[in-house]
Amino acid sequence: MSNAEIGVIGGSGLYSFLEDVTEVRVETPYGEPSDSVFLGEIGGRRVAFLPRHGRGHHVPPHRINYRANLWALRSVGVRQVLGPCAVGGLRPEYGPGTLLVPDQLVDRTKTRVQTYYDGETRADGAVPNVVHLGFADPYCPEGRKAALAAARGRGWEAVDGGTLVVVEGPRFSTRAESRWHAAMGWSVVGMTGHPEAVLARELGLCYTTMTLVTDLDAGAEAGEGVSHEEVLKVFAANVDRLRSVLFDAVTALPAQAGRDCPCGHALDGVDTGIALP
Ligand SMILES: [Zn+2]
Repeated sequence: MSNAEIGVIGGSGLYSFLEDVTEVRVETPYGEPSDSVFLGEIGGRRVAFLPRHGRGHHVPPHRINYRANLWALRSVGVRQVLGPCAVGGLRPEYGPGTLLVPDQLVDRTKTRVQTYYDGETRADGAVPNVVHLGFADPYCPEGRKAALAAARGRGWEAVDGGTLVVVEGPRFSTRAESRWHAAMGWSVVGMTGHPEAVLARELGLCYTTMTLVTDLDAGAEAGEGVSHEEVLKVFAANVDRLRSVLFDAVTALPAQAGRDCPCGHALDGVDTGIALP
């Protein structure tokens, strides 16, 4: 099977114009990923793109098969993942067009499977052990560095650090929820950053997210609250420069052999009970 070292989970606007993209269907023990994996090359690095919501954006955040997506990426050789996503700003100074590279995460999702290691027999008969991994620092320090440097290089000063709170969706927050999130000191709110981050950790993958603020969340503005049209409009206005930053971040990531961050050692000495691809 064709191979890649870096995975990007995001919309098709991020890769559709690349030349020589190869589409690969990947089967996983967890069912179908959101879509095929698309293999291409950026600056000499082999990259696997996976449309998080599928082509045509038909899979809502709470129904994404996050386990299958991360497993599929690891199956084609990926060890470092960049997962950009659209978010709402929880502070007036984080208005539309802000790029923020979080260093912390709060999980407020409700129905999503968060682990590969639940002790339950899989459909293929394999039985994972119950495993508890550290997650104090959910994002890769090297990936964050690469993302911040890439943004700076494109004249887009990103906010370095902050907390991404991930809600279940698909609805947006109430005003009270949004004010509460802000009062807790959290920075941005989204629907897709989790359990992507923890599942990456469970597979020993580096994971970094870059969040693009598309709107001020309900509690941070006086108007009608968030609309989906508004989100799409701001995303479309920023997709070109987000893509440039993403591609620069890809080339700035450490070489596979030189990867020396804690993420790659998350499974050292851990008996997962199952073979990883
Ligand atoms: Zn790492």
